[in-house]
Amino acid sequence: MSTRSKEFSQLAKECEKDLRDLVNLPDNYAVLWTQSGAFLQFTSVPFNIGGSRENTATYVETGHWSMEAAKEARKFINVAPAWKPQQEEYLFTLPETEELNIHKDSKYVYYCDNETVHGVEYHTPIVTEGVPVVCDMTSSYLTKPIDWDRVDVAISSAQKNLGPSGITSLIVNKDLLGRKRDDTPIMCDWETQHNCGGFYNTPNVFALYLCGLTLKHLKKFGLEFYDDLAKQRSKLIYDVFDSSNGFYKNKVNPKHRSRINCQFTLKSKEEDDKFLKAADEAGFLFLYGHDKYGGCRVNMYNAMPLEGAEKLRNFMKQYQDEQE
Ligand code: PMP
Repeated sequence: MSTRSKEFSQLAKECEKDLRDLVNLPDNYAVLWTQSGAFLQFTSVPFNIGGSRENTATYVETGHWSMEAAKEARKFINVAPAWKPQQEEYLFTLPETEELNIHKDSKYVYYCDNETVHGVEYHTPIVTEGVPVVCDMTSSYLTKPIDWDRVDVAISSAQKNLGPSGITSLIVNKDLLGRKRDDTPIMCDWETQHNCGGFYNTPNVFALYLCGLTLKHLKKFGLEFYDDLAKQRSKLIYDVFDSSNGFYKNKVNPKHRSRINCQFTLKSKEEDDKFLKAADEAGFLFLYGHDKYGGCRVNMYNAMPLEGAEKLRNFMKQYQDEQE
């Protein structure tokens, strides 16, 4: 299919319309589809809204993904930390808006809505006074309504709730277009992407097509439905942890427990491995944690029905009974 065809432009138009309807997007926001995942946007953010290398941006580093974003941004701008967690505290809790130290000359504030690896989530967005907010929504995107008064740039790799990997949803407040540095690499350049209708190079047509199908499906239910589903599913799993007398341990501050990624450990690494093997044999796959941090993790995106979480709950309870 030609990417200059009317069929493709119809597909792109419909995807944008369905996404706008689903997330209730105000007209002054641009919808862009990019490639190379959220990672390319870690690079793009400072180029587009950071200005010169001498400028400063504030990063709220709360775990693996926001740390990756800050590490990349440091190559192109000064990064001011928004809080100073105690040793490894960032793995289990999040700073409230009042605890954030936003650099006075900050060009923007960056944070991650849901730290996929550690299972910590902002249930209300952070608030900044007059400083643009960039939010990595990758793992919570389309699982709850979005308050656009609190977000200027929303970065979301598609592969959790929207479509296959290889396509990224990028939403930008149009007021921020036109601030890019002169040396912005072309594939990082939001303004050029926007001005040329969203697709400067050959788009990933098939991925966009699948996103379109998913958007139509999600629209039938709406984001409140998925928010409610995520709450119900994760409650089933957190209730198992909380009633297990420490057999399953989740150290996350209850206020910031993720509705999407529930992480836990057992008594030791050996016990984690034993549990993971038994789960695998019972058909509960991919419950292991991130390679770098270990442990176990239940990832429940929009496609997981409540019955899936119920079955896992039953399995986990039974496993504990058998071990004790
Ligand atoms: N941010 C978050 C919150 C993520 O969960 C991930 C991937 N799991 C990324 C960024 C990176 O996305 P990608 O690999 O598509 O660049």
